[in-house]
Amino acid sequence: MIQVAINGYGTIGKRVADAVREQPDMEVVGVAKTRPNFEAETALEKGFSLYAAIEERADQFAEAGLEIAGPVEDLVDEADVVVDATPSGIGAENKAMYEEYDTPALYQGGEDADLVDVSFNARSNFEDAVDADHVRVVSCNTTGLSRVLAPLREAYGVEKVRATLVRRGGDPGQTSRGPINDILPNPVTIPSHHGPDVETIFDDLDIDTLGMKVPATLMHMHSLNVTLSEEVDASEVRDLFADESRLFLIPERMDIDGSGKLKEYAMDAGRPRGDIWENCIWEESISTVGTDLYLFQGIHQESDVVPENVDAIRAVLGAADAEESIATTDETMGIGL
Ligand code: NAD
Repeated sequence: MIQVAINGYGTIGKRVADAVREQPDMEVVGVAKTRPNFEAETALEKGFSLYAAIEERADQFAEAGLEIAGPVEDLVDEADVVVDATPSGIGAENKAMYEEYDTPALYQGGEDADLVDVSFNARSNFEDAVDADHVRVVSCNTTGLSRVLAPLREAYGVEKVRATLVRRGGDPGQTSRGPINDILPNPVTIPSHHGPDVETIFDDLDIDTLGMKVPATLMHMHSLNVTLSEEVDASEVRDLFADESRLFLIPERMDIDGSGKLKEYAMDAGRPRGDIWENCIWEESISTVGTDLYLFQGIHQESDVVPENVDAIRAVLGAADAEESIATTDETMGIGL
């Protein structure tokens, strides 16, 4: 059994912990938290051992009546691999600790690409991460773009990508984020940093991205234009995407007109936390004009990277190949709407 530590038990970390627990070849050694908030309480209720991420604050857990198993260093020492799901920039500060205990580490999209040996997306470059010590699971947006571009590159070749990312202002729990009544070009400079991030997965890709932020919390929306190397009928692209387990093609008959109904559908389907691990592509939006392909896709920022973290664990430990790992992760999590 692969022993997995989760350092940072927030939006991403708590979802990764639950997904790891579902895997037949993995166990959660424990999760590390900085403070005894509601997530610390639920971690214990779920049976995860709780470790103190900041030693000087360990007393706060005792004062709140929450039992601590030890300092984060013990957790890292005991684990075969650590998933660092701390806020942007903290992963970089933690790297020395992972090196000290010789524990391979996965970081999240908020960290710089040059912190790690490999930036990772399971569908696109699983093999690059095999036996790597420091791997970054790319951001929710980069994951969403990579999953679409990998099959398009393989099937037709891609000349140029242009994407406008309409981004949620904050996650539902991020009460300090915004805007609450505005539409922001964000970043206002063009192209945005998202394109170069996708190039950490496909280093020969020509991609320009533009970002916006809107008063929404549920999902991001991508408006995508891909110039292919050949003319392709839209129906062929739909068939290509239908074979990809992490791409959900929203059928017209479902009458899902936006991210509100998508989330409602996920909750009705009994998804934990209403999570949508798949890219949600409006099937009717898939259109071609000459060699240009167009589509709209919704990306659930809180959860699409979760199965990618599970696959990255197997990659760094050489525990399975891409096909085997993706199939196991999909089956255990129930991926494929
Ligand atoms: P979050 O704030 O929800 O969770 C981070 C957790 O780490 C919190 O519980 C926080 O208390 C804890 N923490 C802070 N300092 C710590 C430390 N020194 N040691 C251990 N834990 C510490 O953040 P998040 O949204 O889960 O983001 C985590 C990472 O995932 C970031 O790199 C982010 O860019 C990336 N990411 C976030 C999203 C998203 O939409 N939320 C999507 C994809 C990737």
